[in-house]
Amino acid sequence: MKAAILHDFKKPLSIEEVAPPRPEADEVLIQVEACGACHSDLHVADGDWPQLAGIVKRPLILGHEIAGRVVERGAAVQDLKIGDRVGVPWIYWTCGECEFCREGNENLCSRQKITGVTVDGGYAEFVKAPATHALKIPDGLSALEAAPLFCAGLTVYRALKGAGIVPGQRLAVFGIGGLGHLAVQFGRAFGAEVTAIDISEEKLELARTFGAADALNAATTDVVKQLRRKGGVHVSLVTSAAKAAYDTAFSCLRPAGTLLVVGLPAENICFPPILMAAREVRIHASTVGTRQDLREVLAMAAEGKLRCQVVARPLVQANEVLDQLRKGQVSGRIVLTP
Ligand code: NAD
Ligand code: ZN
Ligand code: ZN
Repeated sequence: MKAAILHDFKKPLSIEEVAPPRPEADEVLIQVEACGACHSDLHVADGDWPQLAGIVKRPLILGHEIAGRVVERGAAVQDLKIGDRVGVPWIYWTCGECEFCREGNENLCSRQKITGVTVDGGYAEFVKAPATHALKIPDGLSALEAAPLFCAGLTVYRALKGAGIVPGQRLAVFGIGGLGHLAVQFGRAFGAEVTAIDISEEKLELARTFGAADALNAATTDVVKQLRRKGGVHVSLVTSAAKAAYDTAFSCLRPAGTLLVVGLPAENICFPPILMAAREVRIHASTVGTRQDLREVLAMAAEGKLRCQVVARPLVQANEVLDQLRKGQVSGRIVLTP
């Protein structure tokens, strides 16, 4: 099968012919129809996160926003059949037994395997996955539309749900990329008044079409001043990998506001303790989500409450796509199609 393979950090992926994976008894083989190119793929490929470098499999097939069709199943698989449309998220496998799994937070599983990081992912014609963790895609959602929900949609949904937004509250979304353009829509669905912040006019326009009440260009506008004038925001969600976005997002919070840490810059982020204390700021970090979160996201998309802006590109263009992402030139999500 054709696959885009990472051999070394910071080097282009090599497009190669490799043997397709063989599913174990509890696994399914999936023919990949679509795989979103998430900014996390770029962080992994560039070795941006030294904390993660030790667990990155190599050679590695990237990609954790996978949508496809079951073409083979192991002898012990019961709930999936050949032809089922399924997706595979960032969390590839969880143990079901550790304290985090038992507490309902399987996204924190201490034994988790990660798609496109510790095991091969979806920048390929085929991928295998545990049948228990490949979720069915509702009819009516195409593979292209569904793929980005398996990371981008899931991640911002869980983060916003965790912030406990109440209708009428002010939400600022920093970074209107793959994650951010979906966050604007969830924010609206939760009843928030959403302000979108980016450094690209094209992305701000996209945010407006998805219902942002306001859209501010951080490169040309004093975002802190604008949002403070309204009394600050209840929730600042950062879905940008720019450290600068965190600095601004923190300063825009009203007292008792929540900073949602989702975007993952390579640099550390830091805030003045005196302001954190004086404003009783809450800092809430969030990582992808559970299978139950994902079912909720897929259901909302199937009901038409959420629409992913997608552009399809052939798998062989994976390097060009990652480069566009690096330069901030992707509006919505680019989805690779093998
Ligand atoms: P993306 O490249 O599609 O979007 C990032 C956006 O940030 C772009 O629109 C860019 O123009 C904008 N931006 C750049 N500088 C900015 C600034 N100073 N202020 C405001 N906006 C700015 O990326 P993505 O795929 O949406 O991923 C975003 C981040 O989220 C990445 O760091 C990724 O690794 C991370 N992520 C985290 C999780 C998690 O579980 N916490 C899951 C998925 C992705
Ligand atoms: Zn576990
Ligand atoms: Zn992702």
